[in-house]
Amino acid sequence: MKIFVTGGAGFIGSAVIRRIVADTDWRVVNIDKLTYAGNLQSLEAIAGDSRYRFVQADIGDAPVMAALFADEQPDAVLHLAAETHVDRSIDGAAPFILTNIIGTWSLLETTLAYWRKLDGERKARFRFQHISTDEVYGSLGPTGLFTEDTPYKPNSPYSASKAASDHLVNAWHHTYGLPTIVTNCSNNYGPYQFPEKLIPLTIVRALRGEELPVYGKGENVRDWLHVEDHAAAQLAILERGSIGATYNIGGGNERRNIDVVRAICAQIDAIAPKTAPHEKLIRFVTDRPGHDLRYAIDATRLKREIGWQAPTGFHAGLKQTIDWYVSNRRWWENVLSGAYRTERLGLVKG
Ligand code: NAD
Repeated sequence: MKIFVTGGAGFIGSAVIRRIVADTDWRVVNIDKLTYAGNLQSLEAIAGDSRYRFVQADIGDAPVMAALFADEQPDAVLHLAAETHVDRSIDGAAPFILTNIIGTWSLLETTLAYWRKLDGERKARFRFQHISTDEVYGSLGPTGLFTEDTPYKPNSPYSASKAASDHLVNAWHHTYGLPTIVTNCSNNYGPYQFPEKLIPLTIVRALRGEELPVYGKGENVRDWLHVEDHAAAQLAILERGSIGATYNIGGGNERRNIDVVRAICAQIDAIAPKTAPHEKLIRFVTDRPGHDLRYAIDATRLKREIGWQAPTGFHAGLKQTIDWYVSNRRWWENVLSGAYRTERLGLVKG
Protein backbone atom coordinates (compact mmCIF):
# COMPACT_ATOMS: atom_id res chain seq x y z
CA MET A 1 0.00 0.00 0.00
CA LYS A 2 1.08 3.53 -0.71
CA ILE A 3 -0.73 6.31 1.14
CA PHE A 4 -0.86 10.01 0.41
CA VAL A 5 -1.23 12.01 3.62
CA THR A 6 -2.10 15.68 3.01
CA GLY A 7 -1.22 18.00 5.88
CA GLY A 8 1.26 15.45 7.20
CA ALA A 9 3.47 18.11 8.79
CA GLY A 10 0.61 19.19 11.05
CA PHE A 11 -0.40 17.95 14.47
CA ILE A 12 -2.65 15.01 13.53
CA GLY A 13 -1.11 14.28 10.12
CA SER A 14 2.35 13.82 11.66
CA ALA A 15 0.87 11.40 14.24
CA VAL A 16 -0.77 9.44 11.41
CA ILE A 17 2.53 9.26 9.48
CA ARG A 18 4.55 8.23 12.54
CA ARG A 19 2.01 5.46 13.16
CA ILE A 20 2.02 4.25 9.54
CA VAL A 21 5.81 3.99 9.57
CA ALA A 22 5.87 2.28 12.99
CA ASP A 23 2.96 -0.15 12.62
CA THR A 24 2.66 -1.06 8.92
CA ASP A 25 4.83 -1.89 5.93
CA TRP A 26 3.09 0.78 3.83
CA ARG A 27 4.83 3.58 2.03
CA VAL A 28 3.70 7.13 2.75
CA VAL A 29 3.99 10.42 0.87
CA ASN A 30 3.50 13.52 2.99
CA ILE A 31 2.08 16.41 0.93
CA ASP A 32 2.17 19.63 2.89
CA LYS A 33 2.38 23.30 1.99
CA LEU A 34 4.16 24.09 5.28
CA THR A 35 1.97 26.94 6.47
CA TYR A 36 2.67 28.40 9.93
CA ALA A 37 1.16 25.15 11.33
CA GLY A 38 3.34 22.73 9.35
CA ASN A 39 6.50 21.59 11.11
CA LEU A 40 8.86 18.95 9.74
CA GLN A 41 10.53 18.68 13.16
CA SER A 42 7.46 16.65 14.17
CA LEU A 43 8.64 13.97 11.74
CA GLU A 44 12.35 13.90 12.59
CA ALA A 45 12.05 10.41 14.08
CA ILE A 46 10.95 8.85 10.76
CA ALA A 47 12.26 11.33 8.18
CA GLY A 48 15.12 9.02 7.16
CA ASP A 49 12.89 5.98 6.62
CA SER A 50 13.02 4.64 3.07
CA ARG A 51 9.21 4.23 3.06
CA TYR A 52 8.66 7.96 3.69
CA ARG A 53 8.79 10.86 1.25
CA PHE A 54 8.00 14.54 1.81
CA VAL A 55 6.71 16.82 -0.95
CA GLN A 56 6.10 20.51 -0.31
CA ALA A 57 2.97 21.35 -2.30
CA ASP A 58 -0.42 23.03 -2.06
CA ILE A 59 -3.34 20.60 -2.38
CA GLY A 60 -5.01 23.20 -4.61
CA ASP A 61 -2.14 23.23 -7.13
CA ALA A 62 -3.81 20.89 -9.63
CA PRO A 63 -0.91 20.41 -12.12
CA VAL A 64 1.58 19.61 -9.34
CA MET A 65 -0.88 17.27 -7.61
CA ALA A 66 -1.79 15.49 -10.87
CA ALA A 67 1.89 14.90 -11.62
CA LEU A 68 2.40 13.54 -8.10
CA PHE A 69 -0.52 11.10 -8.45
CA ALA A 70 0.82 9.93 -11.84
CA ASP A 71 4.31 9.51 -10.46
CA GLU A 72 3.53 7.84 -7.14
CA GLN A 73 0.34 5.84 -7.95
CA PRO A 74 -1.16 5.90 -4.41
CA ASP A 75 -3.70 3.36 -3.10
CA ALA A 76 -5.37 5.82 -0.73
CA VAL A 77 -5.48 9.47 0.29
CA LEU A 78 -5.83 10.56 3.90
CA HIS A 79 -6.84 14.20 3.52
CA LEU A 80 -5.92 16.26 6.58
CA ALA A 81 -4.52 19.47 5.04
CA ALA A 82 -6.56 22.40 6.29
CA GLU A 83 -6.57 25.69 8.09
CA THR A 84 -7.69 24.62 11.54
CA HIS A 85 -7.76 27.34 14.18
CA VAL A 86 -11.20 28.85 14.92
CA ASP A 87 -9.72 32.11 16.29
CA ARG A 88 -7.70 32.63 13.10
CA SER A 89 -10.84 32.00 11.00
CA ILE A 90 -12.54 34.83 12.92
CA ASP A 91 -9.65 37.20 12.17
CA GLY A 92 -9.64 36.27 8.47
CA ALA A 93 -11.59 33.54 6.68
CA ALA A 94 -9.84 33.73 3.30
CA PRO A 95 -7.25 30.96 3.80
CA PHE A 96 -10.01 28.74 5.24
CA ILE A 97 -12.13 29.18 2.12
CA LEU A 98 -9.13 28.72 -0.17
CA THR A 99 -7.68 25.57 1.41
CA ASN A 100 -10.59 23.87 3.15
CA ILE A 101 -13.19 24.42 0.42
CA ILE A 102 -11.47 25.23 -2.88
CA GLY A 103 -8.38 23.16 -2.05
CA THR A 104 -10.54 20.15 -1.17
CA TRP A 105 -12.58 20.58 -4.35
CA SER A 106 -9.39 20.71 -6.43
CA LEU A 107 -7.95 17.64 -4.67
CA LEU A 108 -11.20 15.74 -5.30
CA GLU A 109 -11.02 16.59 -9.01
CA THR A 110 -7.38 15.49 -9.23
CA THR A 111 -8.11 12.30 -7.28
CA LEU A 112 -11.15 11.49 -9.44
CA ALA A 113 -9.19 11.86 -12.69
CA TYR A 114 -6.49 9.53 -11.29
CA TRP A 115 -8.98 7.01 -9.85
CA ARG A 116 -10.91 6.74 -13.14
CA LYS A 117 -7.77 5.51 -14.88
CA LEU A 118 -7.07 2.75 -12.34
CA ASP A 119 -8.13 -0.73 -13.29
CA GLY A 120 -9.80 -3.69 -11.62
CA GLU A 121 -8.68 -4.45 -8.13
CA ARG A 122 -6.68 -1.24 -7.62
CA LYS A 123 -9.71 0.84 -8.54
CA ALA A 124 -11.95 -1.15 -6.18
CA ARG A 125 -9.46 -0.90 -3.31
CA PHE A 126 -8.79 2.84 -3.62
CA ARG A 127 -10.02 5.17 -0.83
CA PHE A 128 -10.23 8.92 -0.31
CA GLN A 129 -10.61 9.44 3.44
CA HIS A 130 -11.51 12.94 4.57
CA ILE A 131 -10.60 14.05 8.09
CA SER A 132 -13.12 16.50 9.50
CA THR A 133 -14.43 17.84 12.76
CA ASP A 134 -17.46 17.45 15.04
CA GLU A 135 -17.77 21.27 14.92
CA VAL A 136 -19.76 20.90 11.67
CA TYR A 137 -22.73 19.80 13.81
CA GLY A 138 -22.88 23.12 15.70
CA SER A 139 -23.39 23.44 19.42
CA LEU A 140 -25.10 21.08 21.88
CA GLY A 141 -26.99 22.11 25.00
CA PRO A 142 -26.15 20.50 28.34
CA THR A 143 -27.29 17.03 27.16
CA GLY A 144 -27.27 14.91 24.00
CA LEU A 145 -24.56 13.64 21.65
CA PHE A 146 -23.65 14.17 17.99
CA THR A 147 -24.43 11.11 15.85
CA GLU A 148 -23.59 10.71 12.17
CA ASP A 149 -27.20 11.72 11.44
CA THR A 150 -27.11 15.02 13.35
CA PRO A 151 -27.92 17.83 10.89
CA TYR A 152 -25.07 20.16 10.01
CA LYS A 153 -25.20 23.60 11.68
CA PRO A 154 -21.69 25.05 11.66
CA ASN A 155 -21.26 28.33 13.51
CA SER A 156 -17.69 29.56 12.94
CA PRO A 157 -15.94 30.38 9.65
CA TYR A 158 -13.69 27.36 10.35
CA SER A 159 -16.52 24.89 10.94
CA ALA A 160 -18.51 26.28 7.99
CA SER A 161 -15.50 25.70 5.71
CA LYS A 162 -15.08 22.14 7.01
CA ALA A 163 -18.82 21.48 6.59
CA ALA A 164 -18.55 22.63 2.97
CA SER A 165 -15.61 20.28 2.42
CA ASP A 166 -17.55 17.33 3.91
CA HIS A 167 -20.47 18.03 1.55
CA LEU A 168 -18.11 18.18 -1.43
CA VAL A 169 -16.52 14.84 -0.52
CA ASN A 170 -19.92 13.18 -0.13
CA ALA A 171 -21.08 14.71 -3.43
CA TRP A 172 -18.03 13.32 -5.24
CA HIS A 173 -19.01 9.89 -3.96
CA HIS A 174 -22.70 10.11 -4.80
CA THR A 175 -22.26 11.82 -8.16
CA TYR A 176 -19.06 10.33 -9.55
CA GLY A 177 -18.67 7.16 -7.50
CA LEU A 178 -15.34 8.17 -5.95
CA PRO A 179 -14.80 5.76 -3.02
CA THR A 180 -14.78 8.23 -0.13
CA ILE A 181 -15.14 8.04 3.65
CA VAL A 182 -15.72 11.04 5.95
CA THR A 183 -14.61 11.09 9.59
CA ASN A 184 -15.81 13.72 12.08
CA CYS A 185 -13.64 13.87 15.14
CA SER A 186 -13.77 15.67 18.48
CA ASN A 187 -11.00 17.91 19.89
CA ASN A 188 -7.56 16.32 19.83
CA TYR A 189 -4.70 16.83 22.25
CA GLY A 190 -1.24 15.32 22.62
CA PRO A 191 2.42 15.83 21.62
CA TYR A 192 3.42 18.14 18.75
CA GLN A 193 0.28 20.33 18.88
CA PHE A 194 0.87 23.94 17.85
CA PRO A 195 0.67 25.97 21.08
CA GLU A 196 -2.26 28.12 19.98
CA LYS A 197 -4.89 25.54 21.00
CA LEU A 198 -6.17 25.30 24.59
CA ILE A 199 -4.15 22.39 26.01
CA PRO A 200 -0.65 23.12 24.61
CA LEU A 201 -1.17 26.88 25.09
CA THR A 202 -1.98 26.34 28.76
CA ILE A 203 0.92 23.94 29.26
CA VAL A 204 3.60 26.16 27.70
CA ARG A 205 2.31 29.32 29.37
CA ALA A 206 2.17 27.58 32.77
CA LEU A 207 5.70 26.23 32.29
CA ARG A 208 6.84 29.81 31.58
CA GLY A 209 4.93 31.25 34.55
CA GLU A 210 2.65 33.32 32.28
CA GLU A 211 -1.05 34.14 32.73
CA LEU A 212 -3.45 31.40 31.58
CA PRO A 213 -6.32 32.89 29.57
CA VAL A 214 -9.69 31.10 29.86
CA TYR A 215 -12.42 32.29 27.48
CA GLY A 216 -15.68 33.48 29.13
CA LYS A 217 -16.42 31.51 32.29
CA GLY A 218 -14.60 28.40 31.07
CA GLU A 219 -17.86 26.48 30.91
CA ASN A 220 -17.59 25.34 27.29
CA VAL A 221 -17.36 21.56 27.07
CA ARG A 222 -15.25 19.55 24.61
CA ASP A 223 -14.86 15.77 24.20
CA TRP A 224 -11.09 15.19 24.26
CA LEU A 225 -9.35 12.54 22.17
CA HIS A 226 -5.65 11.73 22.35
CA VAL A 227 -4.03 12.32 18.95
CA GLU A 228 -2.39 8.89 18.91
CA ASP A 229 -5.82 7.30 19.41
CA HIS A 230 -7.12 9.42 16.54
CA ALA A 231 -4.27 8.23 14.29
CA ALA A 232 -5.06 4.61 15.18
CA ALA A 233 -8.76 5.18 14.44
CA GLN A 234 -7.93 6.64 11.02
CA LEU A 235 -5.95 3.53 10.05
CA ALA A 236 -8.68 1.20 11.36
CA ILE A 237 -11.29 3.07 9.32
CA LEU A 238 -9.08 3.04 6.24
CA GLU A 239 -8.79 -0.74 6.48
CA ARG A 240 -12.32 -1.62 7.55
CA GLY A 241 -14.61 1.36 6.85
CA SER A 242 -17.48 1.29 4.34
CA ILE A 243 -17.35 3.39 1.20
CA GLY A 244 -19.66 6.41 1.39
CA ALA A 245 -19.97 6.19 5.18
CA THR A 246 -19.36 8.81 7.85
CA TYR A 247 -17.73 7.85 11.16
CA ASN A 248 -17.75 9.98 14.28
CA ILE A 249 -14.59 9.63 16.37
CA GLY A 250 -14.56 10.67 20.02
CA GLY A 251 -12.76 9.91 23.23
CA GLY A 252 -15.71 9.81 25.63
CA ASN A 253 -13.78 12.39 27.68
CA GLU A 254 -16.09 15.39 28.13
CA ARG A 255 -14.54 18.20 30.15
CA ARG A 256 -15.29 21.88 30.78
CA ASN A 257 -12.42 24.10 29.62
CA ILE A 258 -11.86 25.41 33.15
CA ASP A 259 -11.54 21.85 34.45
CA VAL A 260 -8.98 21.06 31.73
CA VAL A 261 -6.94 24.13 32.69
CA ARG A 262 -7.14 23.25 36.40
CA ALA A 263 -6.09 19.65 35.67
CA ILE A 264 -3.04 20.95 33.76
CA CYS A 265 -2.19 23.29 36.65
CA ALA A 266 -2.42 20.44 39.18
CA GLN A 267 -0.11 18.20 37.13
CA ILE A 268 2.39 21.04 36.60
CA ASP A 269 2.33 21.79 40.35
CA ALA A 270 3.77 18.32 40.86
CA ILE A 271 6.50 18.91 38.26
CA ALA A 272 7.36 22.49 39.31
CA PRO A 273 6.45 22.80 43.02
CA LYS A 274 8.49 25.99 43.42
CA THR A 275 6.07 27.99 41.24
CA ALA A 276 2.89 26.23 42.51
CA PRO A 277 0.01 26.73 42.68
CA HIS A 278 -0.25 27.41 38.93
CA GLU A 279 -4.00 28.02 39.27
CA LYS A 280 -3.15 31.51 40.45
CA LEU A 281 -2.17 32.28 36.83
CA ILE A 282 -5.74 31.67 35.51
CA ARG A 283 -7.41 34.78 34.03
CA PHE A 284 -10.96 34.81 32.66
CA VAL A 285 -10.92 36.81 29.41
CA THR A 286 -13.51 38.03 26.87
CA ASP A 287 -15.27 35.05 25.36
CA ARG A 288 -14.72 33.91 21.74
CA PRO A 289 -17.43 35.47 19.52
CA GLY A 290 -20.09 32.82 18.82
CA HIS A 291 -18.34 30.32 21.10
CA ASP A 292 -20.11 26.93 20.82
CA LEU A 293 -21.15 25.71 24.27
CA ARG A 294 -20.68 21.98 24.05
CA TYR A 295 -19.51 19.23 21.67
CA ALA A 296 -19.87 15.54 22.50
CA ILE A 297 -19.60 12.52 20.26
CA ASP A 298 -21.61 9.33 20.02
CA ALA A 299 -18.99 6.94 18.59
CA THR A 300 -21.24 3.85 18.59
CA ARG A 301 -20.93 3.28 14.82
CA LEU A 302 -17.14 3.23 15.06
CA LYS A 303 -17.28 0.65 17.83
CA ARG A 304 -19.98 -1.49 16.20
CA GLU A 305 -18.73 -1.51 12.61
CA ILE A 306 -14.97 -1.12 12.97
CA GLY A 307 -14.53 -2.59 16.45
CA TRP A 308 -12.52 0.45 17.56
CA GLN A 309 -12.78 2.47 20.76
CA ALA A 310 -10.40 5.08 22.21
CA PRO A 311 -8.13 3.36 24.75
CA THR A 312 -6.58 6.45 26.42
CA GLY A 313 -8.22 7.97 29.50
CA PHE A 314 -8.01 11.75 29.84
CA HIS A 315 -5.91 11.85 33.01
CA ALA A 316 -3.24 9.49 31.64
CA GLY A 317 -3.29 11.16 28.20
CA LEU A 318 -2.88 14.60 29.75
CA LYS A 319 0.03 13.43 31.89
CA GLN A 320 1.78 11.92 28.84
CA THR A 321 1.19 15.19 26.95
CA ILE A 322 2.52 17.44 29.74
CA ASP A 323 5.57 15.19 30.18
CA TRP A 324 6.20 15.48 26.42
CA TYR A 325 6.07 19.30 26.49
CA VAL A 326 8.41 19.32 29.50
CA SER A 327 10.92 17.03 27.72
CA ASN A 328 10.59 18.66 24.29
CA ARG A 329 11.11 22.33 25.04
CA ARG A 330 13.24 22.73 21.91
CA TRP A 331 10.26 21.76 19.70
CA TRP A 332 7.89 24.38 21.10
CA GLU A 333 10.52 27.06 21.69
CA ASN A 334 11.40 26.79 17.97
CA VAL A 335 7.70 27.15 17.12
CA LEU A 336 7.36 30.20 19.36
CA SER A 337 10.46 31.85 17.91
CA GLY A 338 8.42 32.34 14.69
CA ALA A 339 5.61 34.81 14.14
CA TYR A 340 3.27 33.45 16.85
CA ARG A 341 4.01 34.21 20.53
CA THR A 342 0.85 32.81 22.23
CA GLU A 343 -0.97 36.15 21.97
CA ARG A 344 -4.80 36.33 21.91
CA LEU A 345 -6.40 35.91 18.46
CA GLY A 346 -10.01 35.89 17.24
CA LEU A 347 -11.69 38.89 18.83
CA VAL A 348 -14.14 40.60 16.49
CA LYS A 349 -12.95 44.19 16.05
CA GLY A 350 -14.99 47.30 15.34
P1 NAD B 1 -2.77 21.58 11.84
O1 NAD B 1 -3.20 23.01 11.71
O2 NAD B 1 -1.84 21.18 12.93
O3 NAD B 1 -2.08 21.09 10.48
C1 NAD B 1 -2.59 21.37 9.20
C2 NAD B 1 -1.51 21.04 8.18
O4 NAD B 1 -2.05 21.30 6.86
C3 NAD B 1 -0.25 21.90 8.33
O5 NAD B 1 0.89 21.07 8.29
C4 NAD B 1 -0.31 22.82 7.11
O6 NAD B 1 0.99 23.19 6.65
C5 NAD B 1 -1.05 21.96 6.10
N1 NAD B 1 -1.74 22.75 5.07
C6 NAD B 1 -2.55 23.83 5.25
N2 NAD B 1 -2.98 24.29 4.07
C7 NAD B 1 -2.46 23.47 3.11
C8 NAD B 1 -2.57 23.41 1.70
N3 NAD B 1 -3.30 24.31 1.02
N4 NAD B 1 -1.91 22.43 1.03
C9 NAD B 1 -1.14 21.52 1.71
N5 NAD B 1 -1.00 21.54 3.04
C10 NAD B 1 -1.65 22.50 3.74
O7 NAD B 1 -4.11 20.75 11.88
P2 NAD B 1 -4.50 19.43 12.71
O8 NAD B 1 -4.93 19.84 14.06
O9 NAD B 1 -3.43 18.43 12.54
O10 NAD B 1 -5.80 18.98 11.91
C11 NAD B 1 -5.70 18.12 10.78
C12 NAD B 1 -7.08 17.85 10.22
O11 NAD B 1 -7.91 17.29 11.21
C13 NAD B 1 -7.79 19.13 9.74
O12 NAD B 1 -8.46 18.83 8.54
C14 NAD B 1 -8.76 19.44 10.86
O13 NAD B 1 -9.90 20.12 10.37
C15 NAD B 1 -9.09 18.06 11.36
N6 NAD B 1 -9.48 17.99 12.78
C16 NAD B 1 -8.68 18.53 13.75
C17 NAD B 1 -9.05 18.41 15.08
C18 NAD B 1 -8.18 18.94 16.20
O14 NAD B 1 -8.59 18.92 17.37
N7 NAD B 1 -6.97 19.43 15.94
C19 NAD B 1 -10.24 17.76 15.43
C20 NAD B 1 -11.01 17.21 14.41
C21 NAD B 1 -10.62 17.33 13.09
